[in-house]
Amino acid sequence: MNCPYCQSPESKVVDSRTVARDSSIRRRRECLDCQRRFTTYEYIVKHPLLVVKKNGQRVEYERQRIERSIRIACNKRPVSADQILDAAAQVHKQIEDRGHVEITSAQIGDLVMETLKNLDKVAYIRFASVYHEFQDLGEFQSEIEQLRE
Ligand SMILES: [Zn+2]
Repeated sequence: MNCPYCQSPESKVVDSRTVARDSSIRRRRECLDCQRRFTTYEYIVKHPLLVVKKNGQRVEYERQRIERSIRIACNKRPVSADQILDAAAQVHKQIEDRGHVEITSAQIGDLVMETLKNLDKVAYIRFASVYHEFQDLGEFQSEIEQLRE
């Protein structure tokens, strides 16, 4: 960031504060050569998180989809609406914490499954059976056997 007066690249930050409205950071800088002050704004570039589907197609990540999947899996199970929201928030946070621009639908599925496993076993099996698209019953049963242990 060059000084607008003398074009010197050397400046120091004398004050910085976050502008809450648009989450930008306003900085007052002082040129080390001419000592004049100027203001810069720093913006966070928000990339939309993309979900890479099995066929390689990319779609924008939608938080509501996770919540909906969990709700469907928990249908008629003793799971409260709050627990569903918490579970969805937990998955969403894990996805955000990765800090990547892309995530595969399989990775999202794994995170949802892990969360459901702790929440409700039946919901977990429901989700897993749809998600894995079990090819044969043996595979599905081995999954259930693992749960019984
Ligand atoms: Zn200057």
